[in-house]
Amino acid sequence: MRRSIATLAGLAVLGTGLSAATSAAADPAHIPGGPCIQQDQNVSLASVAGYDDVVQALDRIEHTSQGLVTVESAGTSGEGRELLYATVGDGPTTFWLQARIHGNELHSTEAVLQILDHLASGDPAARLIRENLTVVVIPMYNPDGAEANIRQSTTPTRIDLNRDWENFAQPESIAFWKLWRDTAPELALDLHHMGQAPVVNGTDDLNQFQIGARSIAPSRMTDEQWLTNRQMAMVSVDALEGYGVANIAHYPLIDITNAALSRMLMGGTAPAGEQPVMQTPTKGAIFYEVRSVGQKSNGQLENLFRIPTMAVLRAAADGSLATYDISGYTDIPFASQGPCGV
Ligand SMILES: [Zn+2]
Repeated sequence: MRRSIATLAGLAVLGTGLSAATSAAADPAHIPGGPCIQQDQNVSLASVAGYDDVVQALDRIEHTSQGLVTVESAGTSGEGRELLYATVGDGPTTFWLQARIHGNELHSTEAVLQILDHLASGDPAARLIRENLTVVVIPMYNPDGAEANIRQSTTPTRIDLNRDWENFAQPESIAFWKLWRDTAPELALDLHHMGQAPVVNGTDDLNQFQIGARSIAPSRMTDEQWLTNRQMAMVSVDALEGYGVANIAHYPLIDITNAALSRMLMGGTAPAGEQPVMQTPTKGAIFYEVRSVGQKSNGQLENLFRIPTMAVLRAAADGSLATYDISGYTDIPFASQGPCGV
């Protein structure tokens, strides 16, 4: 379970498929923060949650929550691991919080476990969230990929689980689609890591956080969905700006209809033998991309997930999300890929 492998460095710099030479960015020596994981760098995974850690953490949180948290399984993975999720709160609005659909995007799991711990606490903000929301927390959507430290499924064809809500080739996709149908979340948030080390356009600033308000083109959404997505995005961005070093950018414009979030917004597909959800309950569904794994910065990476996620949960719970000002959305810069992603 506990690993420390030099080969991770090779995986971490491969990137996730975006164009490899989009930018003649500044000399690496001039980019603050030293973003590049070197080929021979030994990245420690000692503090990264593996599947067994998730099982133990969920068990601990459930048993110390005095009934506030319940843990269940949505089904089993391709290799037979339980697809665990926790439910906290009993409010009328269901909020879906999903981590690690890509198995090698490490720190989102720890971040949502910290959030779940907090939501089960006596903190007044946690109580407000529990009263107004029912939060479905999925710490490890892709446990097989997580254990293998790869992005996709571990099947020979290496299915990307975030491109599988049309074909439903993988049992994880079927199980979580059914959970989505049955829990009918109004809001959804999906946590990712970038495969690269971009810089914010027009600057030398290491981009630490990208906001993904549109996994599909806005023309595929209702007006209400596109508004809600931008409101969720701006709550996230404004919360992180107080954190200081995020150097926020907009995720590249994409239109991927087979991603999980995309089909939550669009409906219209279902696994074999199931009826598609024609009237989707999901009004808002966005994603975060946090800078990828480096050394001695795990806590910061977890904060980059935790701070905006908590802000969105609070805004959904206290009602401020619905009227949140989105005028700053069009001012969010884009980022260019830095040299170490080449
Ligand atoms: Zn990802």
